[in-house]
Amino acid sequence: MTDKYAVIGNPIAHSKSPLIHRMFAEQTGQDISYEKIEAPLDGFATMVERLRSEGYKGCNVTVPFKFEAFKMCVMQTGRAREARAANTLLFRDSEIWGDNTDGAGLITDIEQNLGFKLMFKDALLMGAGGAAHGVVWPLFNAGAGIVIANRTVEKAQHIAAEFEGAGTVFARSYEELAGKRFDLVINATSSSLADALPPLPDGLFKPGALAYDMMYGRETPFMKFAREQGAALVADGLGMLVEQAAESFYKWRDVRPDTRPILEKLRQS
Ligand code: NDP
Repeated sequence: MTDKYAVIGNPIAHSKSPLIHRMFAEQTGQDISYEKIEAPLDGFATMVERLRSEGYKGCNVTVPFKFEAFKMCVMQTGRAREARAANTLLFRDSEIWGDNTDGAGLITDIEQNLGFKLMFKDALLMGAGGAAHGVVWPLFNAGAGIVIANRTVEKAQHIAAEFEGAGTVFARSYEELAGKRFDLVINATSSSLADALPPLPDGLFKPGALAYDMMYGRETPFMKFAREQGAALVADGLGMLVEQAAESFYKWRDVRPDTRPILEKLRQS
């Protein structure tokens, strides 16, 4: 019998997750269906209950429901607890288990697909929303020193406070970045959605630096800025999207898809 999965978000029309999971299923011979579902902003929990009652095996969760999803879980993985957000739910008997694969997706894309090692690297993480929060711990665990910059600096300070005493995670305003240089600059803001660029100073990139925009699908103002400023490597977030999906698929099906051919196919299309 076909096992049913879905991704729940609002909005969800743009989601590439059904296509990616269908490609994983085809590649690994798994008999699954995967659809996208838009839940009303106040109707996430009801939607999850509906899916459970209809025999779904699990679901992915995207903006803006990841924090709510986390709170619904009776079992949470360490990485979901660190992010306080879940993007992967597993329905087991009467229980909901929650995981967060976003951070693992980013780290795999940076280290394995792009060949950029994070240990002892100085990273600038722009943004302090759900996406940024989900990747701070994984970046920290991978050995990077992190400066979090956010328009509303208090939100960055709030995240950095979780690492007090560790000595490697600091909060800054954009103005305070003047004169600082980084090996890695990650855009985890939603500025690219509005074709905007956070107010970055010149001279931000060290030699060999990687500029990474979590947005995907087109050249963003940040990617253009990074090329002009001499970043050695410039990447969008498609690899992260595919890698976090592969990690979810693995948790659900116990089979790890080979992401390279799938990423290539998606890039060609
Ligand atoms: P949130 O709405 O939770 O956070 C948005 C963040 O962007 C805030 O920190 C906000 O700052 C900042 N921001 C918005 N506009 C601007 C601007 N013009 N200049 C500077 N900062 C700005 O969004 P998420 O964290 O959930 O998502 C952020 C991005 O990451 C989205 O583009 C999303 O598509 C992408 N993403 C990609 C993934 C992938 O797999 N590739 C996975 C998850 C997310 P302030 O706090 O001051 O309002």
